[in-house]
Amino acid sequence: MKMTSILLPLFILLSLIGCDRVEPPVRLHGKTMGTTWSLTIPNLPTGTRSGQLQLQIESSLENINALMSTWRADSEISRFNSSTSTEWFDISPQTHSLLQKATRIYQQSGGAFDPTVSPLVELWGFGHTLPQQGIPDDLQIKSILQHTGLEKLLLDDSAIRMRKSIPQLQLDLSAIAKGYAVDEVARLVSAQGIENYLVEIGGEMRISGNNPKAEPWRVAIEYPHIEKLRSAAVILSVTDAAVATSGDYRNFVEIDGKRYSHIIDPLTGRPVTHNPASVTVITTDCLSADAWATAFSVIGSRKGVELANSLQMAAMFIEGDDDKLTTISSDKMMKYITNTPSEP
Ligand code: AMP
Ligand code: MG
Repeated sequence: MKMTSILLPLFILLSLIGCDRVEPPVRLHGKTMGTTWSLTIPNLPTGTRSGQLQLQIESSLENINALMSTWRADSEISRFNSSTSTEWFDISPQTHSLLQKATRIYQQSGGAFDPTVSPLVELWGFGHTLPQQGIPDDLQIKSILQHTGLEKLLLDDSAIRMRKSIPQLQLDLSAIAKGYAVDEVARLVSAQGIENYLVEIGGEMRISGNNPKAEPWRVAIEYPHIEKLRSAAVILSVTDAAVATSGDYRNFVEIDGKRYSHIIDPLTGRPVTHNPASVTVITTDCLSADAWATAFSVIGSRKGVELANSLQMAAMFIEGDDDKLTTISSDKMMKYITNTPSEP
């Protein structure tokens, strides 16, 4: 995963004012994937030790990084990336399962979500190399586009291995790995018999049961404007679901005074230029929510809402500038929204 600037498009309303519980909720937290993680449990079942849970979570996140981080030269994905071989490459069942799901989302999104955009991410200055100086020229973009596209990755489902169909192929799991890691932590927490909890990594979250007030968890979606960060544009009421948001307002590069999104349109090879300023997706698993929030950022609100409706998916697009904010939501999103946005 990439060490991008901290992305926290969501924050959690955990107000305990007026709460008459004696025991405060347990809150575990740490750092991972260039951002932070946290787990909130209103009431820890008797016999569960929070210190032990913290260690288990840290070890699970460490394992995921060791497999999937492109910031570690020795990770499974980095070793695959650095090889120019088109021979089969054995992979872990975890990476294999993630890539199977990624492939499905790549296909369903018409290529809007594409983990092979890595060389374009580098070209535009969001990668490991030095920041981009000037706008890349058309020829450069065109030649790199010949090396992208997830259909160039071949997966062998029976032998659990993968191979490149061209030597240049590179993978970047930044748009999906946080969601995957959230699901893994959620699995670990549920396995302990804990029913009520909220786990999040960099704002991508999985919610189970109720909050410390024994009500659905309330999730605030930030104003997608730099100067209004940390104030809530929309408040969602969520239980037993995953929530992920993609937005440009914290993560962009500036070239010649113009801002460019960190999300690349895989069809043009350029950063997305249109609104929405942020997209929030609610699904059962966080991997899908994470990947689709990125995909819908590429697709845009008009086609995005149509696609979300046809896939029965909850998606909300926040658009507009500092003067006027609009939300466009798919049918399934409506039940989660508790307010309409108004400028604070
Ligand atoms: P997210 O913040 O989850 O939307 O992920 C954005 C990150 O994923 C970027 O910083 C890139 O590393 C990578 N990325 C950019 N565009 C795409 C895309 N169209 N599909 C998949 N990953 C992308
Ligand atoms: Mg994403």
